[in-house]
Formats: sequence, structure tokens, C-alpha cells
Amino acid sequence: MNPYDNALMQLEKAAQIMNLDKNILTRLSVPEKTITASLPIKMDDGELKIFEAYRVQYNSIRGPYKGGIRFHPNVDLNEVKALSFWMTIKTAVVDIAMGGGKGGVIVDPKSLSNNEIEKLSRAWVNAFFEDIGPNKDIPAPDVYTNAQIMSWMTDEYSKLAGEEKLGVVTGKPLDKGGSKGRDTATARGGFYILEEIIKKEGKNSNDIGVAIQGFGNAGSVMAKLLYDAGYKVEAVSDSKTGIYNKEGLNIDNVIEHKKENKSLSGFDNAEEINKEDLFTLDVDVLVPAALENQITEDNAKNIKANIIIELANGPTTPKADEILYENNVIIIPDVLANAGGVTVSYFEWLQNKEDDYWSEDEVNKKLKEKMVKSWEDILETSKKYKTDLRTSAFISALKRIEKSK
Ligand code: NAD
Repeated sequence: MNPYDNALMQLEKAAQIMNLDKNILTRLSVPEKTITASLPIKMDDGELKIFEAYRVQYNSIRGPYKGGIRFHPNVDLNEVKALSFWMTIKTAVVDIAMGGGKGGVIVDPKSLSNNEIEKLSRAWVNAFFEDIGPNKDIPAPDVYTNAQIMSWMTDEYSKLAGEEKLGVVTGKPLDKGGSKGRDTATARGGFYILEEIIKKEGKNSNDIGVAIQGFGNAGSVMAKLLYDAGYKVEAVSDSKTGIYNKEGLNIDNVIEHKKENKSLSGFDNAEEINKEDLFTLDVDVLVPAALENQITEDNAKNIKANIIIELANGPTTPKADEILYENNVIIIPDVLANAGGVTVSYFEWLQNKEDDYWSEDEVNKKLKEKMVKSWEDILETSKKYKTDLRTSAFISALKRIEKSK
């Protein structure tokens, strides 16, 4: 099942329970604008290659389109549509005055040189220049894109615009108009919610075992936050392999190892596991932080964790959702769990607009307020409608979208 079908199923479920205005449902069932482009890139060896690129501007009822750009070989239009739709819900979940968008390029960036990645990033901006802008559509990083790529994109946009336009992209490096705390915000937002749950349950972080799928921006930062707070991070994985130690991994050493070897493989003091086996380990908390459709009807029934924090977008299929709900697994849904990223992106955009930069403590304090408040809203909604947390997050967002119409 493609992620966009999953996303629309989630929308329809929430719309039915809350009795959403029919016209809003119709409007949210299609993107406002879908733009595709072919990016011609002269490779280092002189050969010309074409890369397919997308921007989907899903909905702007609540403000300019906002959402990342993914560079990945499996990018396709349905994926970009789903991700842009989830951005529309997510910005409303955390109540920031923006809509939803997303972009992508079909490419394996690991096979490109730095120079070729820079050309591709600048070509993306050239292709979508008329459609993006600080008050129109503001991209950010996603899978296999980063602060350096955002910096090239801002530079290219500013060149074309004839003046510096820092607010066109977020997730920039600190010395290029970035916000303090943006690099850790996605994981930190999910971490704050986990801390709320653990506090309420009267548990101690030392007794909580965690497994994390994906060791990039979202997953590795989450691992570090949890490790520093005393949690036992028992397993982590990347696109190639997984590593596991029941007593807990030393995450500082894992980060160092991954940096040096570009892989988790060969890490001392851990057993190498099949990356697919990570989900069924006997842990308390599971953190999918890689790609969509990872928790499915096939593995959901074997999940032993009782809390899932979805740092990835769309990691759980609707069928798996049902199984986990029946098994009383608490799922902190993507549209809330990873909303810390877009929240601090919004803070970055505000700081660029006002040319006033905040301290890291200030950013984290404001982020925590937003995350905890949104979490409390969703808990309230789930009690009121007697439904799961994902549907409650959707209901809470859809009510805000309805109001802004
Ligand atoms: P990233 O490129 O920094 O890292 C992706 C990680 O996933 C890498 O470690 C990669 O090896 C791993 N991976 C890929 N395929 C895998 C597989 N089959 N099994 C295990 N690991 C695999 O990307 P990111 O920014 O960390 O994004 C991860 C997820 O978080 C995505 O779903 C993204 O949409 C979501 N997200 C990211 C942000 C952000 O600010 N970066 C914000 C919100 C949501």
C-alpha cells in the first residue's frame, strides 16, 4: 500500500469520528499544487544525467507551505504527496501558522560527489524558484539532505532573487541564518513527550530499554538524548545493519564509530543483528526513525515494546495501527512525535524575519512548551472521542484547519 493511501485512510477515519466539514474533507483529499521537474546535472566525468524532482504544495489554509526535501532512490510522487499531507496536519497539531508541503529528488546521494550534490541542490532551486519563497513555500532538510544542502539552496535562491533571502529555507547552518537547536529539535520534541509519559507512570529512565531504527539526524540525536538521560539504548540500526547489547550501548562510542566507518557494522561490545529484527526485541520503547511502512501487519503482532515514538513519518501502516491499539501499545504519532523539527524551523523563520537570534536555552524552552501543550491537547481529545492518539492528533489539527477556513 502506498503511503498516500495510508494517509488518506487516516484522514477519513478522523473526519468520520469528528464529523469534519465535508468541504474541508474534499479540499484535504487532494494537493493544491503538484510540480515536477527534470534536473539535468553534468556529472564529474562530464556525462549529463537527469534526476526527477518534485514539490507538492498540499495545503495553505493556515499559512505558507512548509516541509522538507528528501534525496532518496525510492522517492516517488505518492510518497511526496503523503509527506506533504502529513506536514499539513503536523503544523496544525503544534499550532503554527503554516501549511504543508514536501519535496524530493529520485537519487542515491551516496553515489554522488559533494560537487554533484551541490549542483543538484542548486538545480532544484532553479527549477522551483517561482513556486517557493519566504512567504510562499519554505523547504527544510529531510532524509539524506542536511544543513549544507539548505545553505546551497538559500544561496541559489538569493542569487536568483537578487538579494539575500534567508527565510526561504530552514535548517540552515548557524553561520548562515540557522537557529540554535534546529539540528536536535526533531528528536528533542519526541524526547520531551516520552519524558512526560515516564514521569506520569512514575518510572525511572534507568529501567527503560529502547531500540531505535535509523541512525541519522532524528535517530542518532534521539539515541544521544536518551543515553545522556540514563535510558538504556539497547539497539540501533541503519540502512545496512543493526547492533544490540541488552545492557545498553555506549552511544557516544556508537556515534564516533559510525562517523569513522560510515557504518554501524563492526562496533565492539555489541551483537550484530539483522536490521529487521530490531522491532521485535524485548524493549520498552521503540523509535522508528527511518522511513515509511516499517511497522506492518506482519511484524506488529510481535512487537514487545509498550511505547512507540514515531520520529519517522508514516512508519506504521493502518493495519498495524489496529493491531497495536488492540495490544494496548501507546503510539506517539509522527504528526506529533517528530513535530519538533518543523516547530524549530518555524522559530528559525521568525528569527530570520526579525533578524533577532535566540539562545539555545530559549529555543528549547519554547519547543518544550509547544510539545507538552500539544501532547496534553491530544490526550484530552483522545479521552473525549475515545479513540487512539493518531486519530486524536488528526482531530485536533483538523479542528484548527476548519477554524482557519
Ligand atoms: P537522515 O538521512 O539523517 O537519516 C536516515 C537514517 O535512516 C540513516 O541512518 C539511514 O541509514 C537509515 N535508514 C534508511 N533505511 C533504513 C532501513 N531500512 N532500516 C534502518 N535504517 C534505515 O534522515 P532523518 O532526517 O533522520 O529522517 C528520518 C525520518 O525522520 C524520516 O522519516 C523523516 O521524514 C523524519 N523526520 C525528519 C525530520 C528532520 O528534521 N530531519 C523532521 C521530521 C521528520
